[in-house]
Amino acid sequence: MTTDVLVIGGGVIGLATAIELKLRSHCVTILVRDFNSGASHAAAGMLAPEAEQISPGAMLDLCMRSRQLYPDWTSKIEQLSGLSTGYWNCGILAPVYEQTNRNNAQWLDKSATSKHQPNLSADVVGSWWYPEDGQVDNRALTLALCACAIALGVILQDEVTVKNFIYQQNRVIGVCTTNNEVIHAEHYLLATGAWSQELLPIPVQPKKGQMLSVRATEKELPLKQVLFAPDIYIVPRADGRIVIGATMEDVGFTPYNTPAGMQLLLQRAIRLFPPLQHYPIEEFWWGFRPATPDELPILGASPYSNLTLATGHYRNGILLAPVTANLIADVIEGQAAADSLLKHFHYSRFTNS
Ligand SMILES: Cc1cc2nc3c(=O)[nH]c(=O)nc-3n(C[C@H](O)[C@H](O)[C@H](O)COP(=O)(O)OP(=O)(O)OC[C@H]3O[C@@H](n4cnc5c(N)ncnc54)[C@H](O)[C@@H]3O)c2cc1C
Repeated sequence: MTTDVLVIGGGVIGLATAIELKLRSHCVTILVRDFNSGASHAAAGMLAPEAEQISPGAMLDLCMRSRQLYPDWTSKIEQLSGLSTGYWNCGILAPVYEQTNRNNAQWLDKSATSKHQPNLSADVVGSWWYPEDGQVDNRALTLALCACAIALGVILQDEVTVKNFIYQQNRVIGVCTTNNEVIHAEHYLLATGAWSQELLPIPVQPKKGQMLSVRATEKELPLKQVLFAPDIYIVPRADGRIVIGATMEDVGFTPYNTPAGMQLLLQRAIRLFPPLQHYPIEEFWWGFRPATPDELPILGASPYSNLTLATGHYRNGILLAPVTANLIADVIEGQAAADSLLKHFHYSRFTNS
């Protein structure tokens, strides 16, 4: 039986899941307040479960599974959309200013590090090399996901804000939009990132991140892998753009870049890779990570029988998009034993204590 699914939110999580559902022959509509204000537009696009040093357990398993899906998933999205996603399995180098221990990572001493990546700071004492981590151009990915969804026949309504759900007992029977329209579906998916609490009392809070980008002026790319230092990351795109991030701020939805935020990023980035100081600045921006108290996403069932949750992806939502899409499509299709991993991400972990 096909299900009529209404997805609320047009970041990578909503889009990727809508596409997966459409590919499984469901009829899907997405409502989006604003494509460009989401974290998916603001992110750095690192696919970094190892460099991020996620502790072993369900979250690391989820992240590793998603990283593994990335090459095939992006090539499918590229084929269906005709657009590039900028997926690049470039590896991530994690330079350090003092040596500490890390499990299961390859250590490069100072001279091996400078062979691997010339022109790093003289303060760098060595680095950890994660060849399986990589990156995707998250803005290109979001555009490709939109184009793919449209090409497949997903109905996409931009500039539509959902004000509230309409409930009947333990079911959702519709959503009310700011255009005072009521939209009905058989099933609903909440994928509204940092704004999820506006619609449901679940503990997702915005964690602001400021970012900037410069452009390399040399013909040959000065950086051929992501640099992930303890206090800064530098992500070189294949077209010469270099993305630098990010601050971590608890300031609610306060917008804008600040001089203090930019100074912090520039100081740390120039310390790590001094050639940066001469490159033209292209852009400053900011975004809101959807953070939960335990920093794990909220995936799967909700208190309502036909409302599914896919939110709270915090620092790793770009990485987690393909695995989230698969698992959530399974949940919506009612595959009861969807996946043993899912129980770790159930919303009730915040209500049972
Ligand atoms: C600075 C920064 C750097 C990051 N770097 C990385 C990284 O390197 N790697 C990584 O994996 N992740 C990274 N992340 C995290 C990642 O961006 C997020 O986890 C991910 O984008 C979340 O996707 P989403 O679809 O859940 O949310 P979003 O992309 O925020 O999308 C939410 C969508 O919901 C819509 N919406 C909200 N409320 C409503 C409503 N009431 N009605 C209709 N629509 C609504 C919004 O308009 C938006 O389209 C970063 C985030 C930030 C901010």
